Amino acid sequence: MRVMTVEDVRRMLLAVAERIVASQNLLCAADRAIGDGDHGLGMRRGFTAAAERLEGDGFDDAFVPFRSVGDCLISTMGGASGVLFGVLFRGDVEAESSHTLSLDELTRHFERSLAEVCRRGRAQTGDKTLVDALEPAVRSLRQSADSGEVGLASALRAAASAARSGAEATKGYVARFGKARTLGERALGFVDPGALSTAIVFEAMADWAED
Ligand code: ADP
Ligand code: MG
Ligand code: MG
Repeated sequence: MRVMTVEDVRRMLLAVAERIVASQNLLCAADRAIGDGDHGLGMRRGFTAAAERLEGDGFDDAFVPFRSVGDCLISTMGGASGVLFGVLFRGDVEAESSHTLSLDELTRHFERSLAEVCRRGRAQTGDKTLVDALEPAVRSLRQSADSGEVGLASALRAAASAARSGAEATKGYVARFGKARTLGERALGFVDPGALSTAIVFEAMADWAED
Protein backbone atom coordinates (compact mmCIF):
# COMPACT_ATOMS: atom_id res chain seq x y z
CA MET A 1 0.00 0.00 0.00
CA ARG A 2 1.43 3.37 -1.11
CA VAL A 3 -1.41 5.70 -0.16
CA MET A 4 -4.42 5.50 2.11
CA THR A 5 -7.85 6.69 1.04
CA VAL A 6 -10.25 8.46 3.39
CA GLU A 7 -12.06 5.14 3.84
CA ASP A 8 -8.76 3.41 4.68
CA VAL A 9 -8.06 5.97 7.39
CA ARG A 10 -11.56 5.57 8.79
CA ARG A 11 -11.24 1.77 8.91
CA MET A 12 -7.75 1.91 10.38
CA LEU A 13 -8.92 4.17 13.19
CA LEU A 14 -11.93 1.91 13.83
CA ALA A 15 -9.48 -0.98 14.20
CA VAL A 16 -7.46 1.10 16.68
CA ALA A 17 -10.61 1.92 18.66
CA GLU A 18 -11.62 -1.74 18.79
CA ARG A 19 -8.16 -2.81 19.98
CA ILE A 20 -8.00 -0.16 22.69
CA VAL A 21 -11.49 -1.01 23.98
CA ALA A 22 -10.45 -4.69 24.11
CA SER A 23 -7.31 -3.71 26.06
CA GLN A 24 -9.22 -2.00 28.87
CA ASN A 25 -8.30 -4.51 31.59
CA LEU A 26 -4.64 -4.63 30.61
CA LEU A 27 -4.40 -0.83 30.68
CA CYS A 28 -6.20 -0.56 34.03
CA ALA A 29 -3.86 -3.17 35.50
CA ALA A 30 -0.81 -1.22 34.28
CA ASP A 31 -2.23 1.96 35.81
CA ARG A 32 -3.12 0.18 39.08
CA ALA A 33 0.56 -0.69 39.52
CA ILE A 34 1.87 2.88 39.43
CA GLY A 35 -1.17 5.16 39.11
CA ASP A 36 -4.85 5.26 40.04
CA GLY A 37 -6.03 2.35 37.90
CA ASP A 38 -8.34 4.25 35.58
CA HIS A 39 -6.33 4.49 32.36
CA GLY A 40 -8.20 1.64 30.62
CA LEU A 41 -11.54 3.16 31.62
CA GLY A 42 -10.67 6.55 30.16
CA MET A 43 -9.35 4.99 26.98
CA ARG A 44 -12.41 2.78 26.62
CA ARG A 45 -14.73 5.76 27.12
CA GLY A 46 -12.81 7.87 24.61
CA PHE A 47 -12.49 5.23 21.93
CA THR A 48 -16.09 4.06 22.27
CA ALA A 49 -17.16 7.63 21.49
CA ALA A 50 -14.57 7.85 18.71
CA ALA A 51 -15.83 4.62 17.10
CA GLU A 52 -19.39 5.98 17.13
CA ARG A 53 -18.21 9.14 15.44
CA LEU A 54 -16.24 7.15 12.84
CA GLU A 55 -19.23 4.96 12.09
CA GLY A 56 -21.62 7.87 11.83
CA ASP A 57 -20.06 10.58 9.71
CA GLY A 58 -19.09 10.61 6.09
CA PHE A 59 -15.60 12.01 5.68
CA ASP A 60 -14.25 13.72 2.57
CA ASP A 61 -10.71 14.44 3.75
CA ALA A 62 -8.17 11.91 5.00
CA PHE A 63 -7.13 14.09 7.94
CA VAL A 64 -10.70 14.56 9.21
CA PRO A 65 -11.09 11.07 10.75
CA PHE A 66 -7.91 11.73 12.76
CA ARG A 67 -9.24 15.09 13.90
CA SER A 68 -12.64 13.63 14.78
CA VAL A 69 -11.06 10.91 16.91
CA GLY A 70 -8.84 13.47 18.63
CA ASP A 71 -11.77 15.77 19.36
CA CYS A 72 -13.76 12.84 20.79
CA LEU A 73 -10.93 11.82 23.08
CA ILE A 74 -10.43 15.38 24.31
CA SER A 75 -14.12 15.81 25.12
CA THR A 76 -14.79 12.39 26.65
CA MET A 77 -11.65 10.86 28.22
CA GLY A 78 -10.68 13.21 31.02
CA GLY A 79 -7.62 12.57 33.18
CA ALA A 80 -4.08 13.70 32.49
CA SER A 81 -3.93 11.62 29.34
CA GLY A 82 -7.23 12.68 27.70
CA VAL A 83 -5.99 15.87 26.09
CA LEU A 84 -2.63 14.28 25.23
CA PHE A 85 -4.14 11.28 23.44
CA GLY A 86 -6.56 13.69 21.78
CA VAL A 87 -3.65 15.74 20.52
CA LEU A 88 -1.83 12.56 19.43
CA PHE A 89 -4.69 11.82 17.02
CA ARG A 90 -5.57 15.40 16.13
CA GLY A 91 -2.06 16.38 15.21
CA ASP A 92 -1.79 20.12 14.93
CA VAL A 93 -4.73 22.47 14.72
CA GLU A 94 -3.28 23.90 11.51
CA ALA A 95 -3.60 20.53 9.85
CA GLU A 96 -3.28 19.78 6.21
CA SER A 97 -6.05 18.69 3.91
CA SER A 98 -5.82 15.84 1.44
CA HIS A 99 -7.99 13.16 -0.15
CA THR A 100 -5.32 10.51 0.33
CA LEU A 101 -2.46 9.99 2.77
CA SER A 102 1.00 8.97 1.67
CA LEU A 103 3.56 7.66 4.13
CA ASP A 104 5.19 11.08 4.12
CA GLU A 105 1.89 12.81 4.94
CA LEU A 106 1.11 10.30 7.68
CA THR A 107 4.59 10.83 9.08
CA ARG A 108 4.21 14.61 9.05
CA HIS A 109 0.86 14.21 10.81
CA PHE A 110 2.45 12.23 13.65
CA GLU A 111 5.45 14.58 13.79
CA ARG A 112 3.03 17.42 14.47
CA SER A 113 1.29 15.21 17.06
CA LEU A 114 4.55 14.51 18.86
CA ALA A 115 5.54 18.18 18.88
CA GLU A 116 2.13 19.16 20.25
CA VAL A 117 2.08 16.39 22.90
CA CYS A 118 5.52 17.52 24.11
CA ARG A 119 4.55 21.19 24.05
CA ARG A 120 1.41 20.58 26.11
CA GLY A 121 2.67 17.90 28.47
CA ARG A 122 6.28 19.13 28.70
CA ALA A 123 7.56 15.56 28.97
CA GLN A 124 10.66 14.39 27.13
CA THR A 125 11.97 10.95 26.31
CA GLY A 126 12.95 9.15 29.51
CA ASP A 127 10.31 10.81 31.70
CA LYS A 128 8.18 7.62 31.75
CA THR A 129 5.21 8.88 29.74
CA LEU A 130 3.54 8.10 26.44
CA VAL A 131 6.26 10.19 24.78
CA ASP A 132 8.64 7.27 25.35
CA ALA A 133 6.60 5.18 22.90
CA LEU A 134 5.44 7.95 20.57
CA GLU A 135 8.85 9.51 19.91
CA PRO A 136 10.58 6.32 18.65
CA ALA A 137 7.49 5.42 16.58
CA VAL A 138 7.54 8.81 14.87
CA ARG A 139 11.30 8.63 14.36
CA SER A 140 10.87 5.22 12.75
CA LEU A 141 8.14 6.54 10.43
CA ARG A 142 10.43 9.37 9.38
CA GLN A 143 13.26 6.95 8.56
CA SER A 144 10.91 4.79 6.50
CA ALA A 145 9.45 7.80 4.69
CA ASP A 146 12.89 9.24 3.91
CA SER A 147 14.18 5.93 2.57
CA GLY A 148 11.50 6.13 -0.14
CA GLU A 149 11.46 2.36 -0.44
CA VAL A 150 9.14 1.30 2.34
CA GLY A 151 5.40 0.80 1.91
CA LEU A 152 2.85 1.94 4.49
CA ALA A 153 2.35 -1.50 6.01
CA SER A 154 6.08 -2.12 6.61
CA ALA A 155 6.55 1.43 7.87
CA LEU A 156 3.71 1.03 10.37
CA ARG A 157 5.07 -2.36 11.48
CA ALA A 158 8.51 -0.86 12.13
CA ALA A 159 6.92 2.07 13.98
CA ALA A 160 4.87 -0.34 16.11
CA SER A 161 8.01 -2.29 17.06
CA ALA A 162 9.75 0.95 17.97
CA ALA A 163 6.75 2.02 20.08
CA ARG A 164 6.68 -1.36 21.85
CA SER A 165 10.42 -1.19 22.63
CA GLY A 166 9.98 2.37 23.85
CA ALA A 167 7.12 1.32 26.12
CA GLU A 168 9.16 -1.61 27.49
CA ALA A 169 12.04 0.77 28.21
CA THR A 170 9.80 2.82 30.54
CA LYS A 171 10.20 -0.01 33.06
CA GLY A 172 13.70 1.32 33.63
CA TYR A 173 12.63 4.92 34.19
CA VAL A 174 11.55 6.94 37.20
CA ALA A 175 8.45 9.03 36.40
CA ARG A 176 8.72 12.81 36.15
CA PHE A 177 5.04 13.40 35.32
CA GLY A 178 1.66 12.05 36.31
CA LYS A 179 0.64 10.01 39.32
CA ALA A 180 3.70 7.75 39.25
CA ARG A 181 5.95 10.74 39.91
CA THR A 182 5.34 10.51 43.65
CA LEU A 183 6.52 6.87 43.69
CA GLY A 184 10.14 7.65 42.84
CA GLU A 185 12.14 4.46 42.41
CA ARG A 186 9.15 2.31 43.38
CA ALA A 187 7.92 2.88 39.81
CA LEU A 188 10.95 1.01 38.45
CA GLY A 189 10.07 -2.31 36.83
CA PHE A 190 6.61 -1.15 35.76
CA VAL A 191 5.61 -0.06 32.29
CA ASP A 192 4.03 3.38 31.85
CA PRO A 193 0.32 2.86 31.04
CA GLY A 194 0.16 5.67 28.46
CA ALA A 195 3.24 4.33 26.68
CA LEU A 196 1.62 0.89 26.63
CA SER A 197 -1.54 2.37 25.05
CA THR A 198 0.55 4.15 22.47
CA ALA A 199 2.30 0.90 21.49
CA ILE A 200 -1.12 -0.78 21.18
CA VAL A 201 -2.34 2.06 18.94
CA PHE A 202 0.60 1.62 16.54
CA GLU A 203 0.31 -2.18 16.62
CA ALA A 204 -3.38 -1.94 15.71
CA MET A 205 -2.54 0.36 12.79
CA ALA A 206 0.21 -2.02 11.59
CA ASP A 207 -2.08 -5.06 11.86
CA TRP A 208 -4.77 -3.23 9.92
CA ALA A 209 -2.33 -2.23 7.18
CA GLU A 210 -1.03 -5.79 6.78
CA ASP A 211 -4.53 -7.26 6.42
P1 ADP B 1 -4.59 10.03 35.22
O1 ADP B 1 -3.14 9.97 35.58
O2 ADP B 1 -5.14 11.41 35.32
O3 ADP B 1 -5.40 9.00 35.96
P2 ADP B 1 -4.53 8.30 32.90
O4 ADP B 1 -4.43 7.19 33.87
O5 ADP B 1 -5.60 8.17 31.87
O6 ADP B 1 -4.68 9.70 33.63
O7 ADP B 1 -3.17 8.45 32.08
C1 ADP B 1 -1.90 8.32 32.67
C2 ADP B 1 -0.88 8.44 31.56
O8 ADP B 1 -0.84 9.77 31.05
C3 ADP B 1 0.54 8.17 32.01
O9 ADP B 1 0.81 6.78 32.00
C4 ADP B 1 1.38 8.93 31.00
O10 ADP B 1 1.72 8.14 29.88
C5 ADP B 1 0.44 10.02 30.52
N1 ADP B 1 0.87 11.33 30.99
C6 ADP B 1 0.57 11.93 32.16
N2 ADP B 1 1.14 13.15 32.22
C7 ADP B 1 1.82 13.33 31.06
C8 ADP B 1 2.63 14.39 30.51
N3 ADP B 1 2.82 15.54 31.17
N4 ADP B 1 3.16 14.21 29.27
C9 ADP B 1 2.94 13.06 28.59
N5 ADP B 1 2.19 12.04 29.06
C10 ADP B 1 1.64 12.17 30.26
MG1 MG C 1 -4.88 6.94 35.82
MG1 MG D 1 -7.18 9.27 37.00
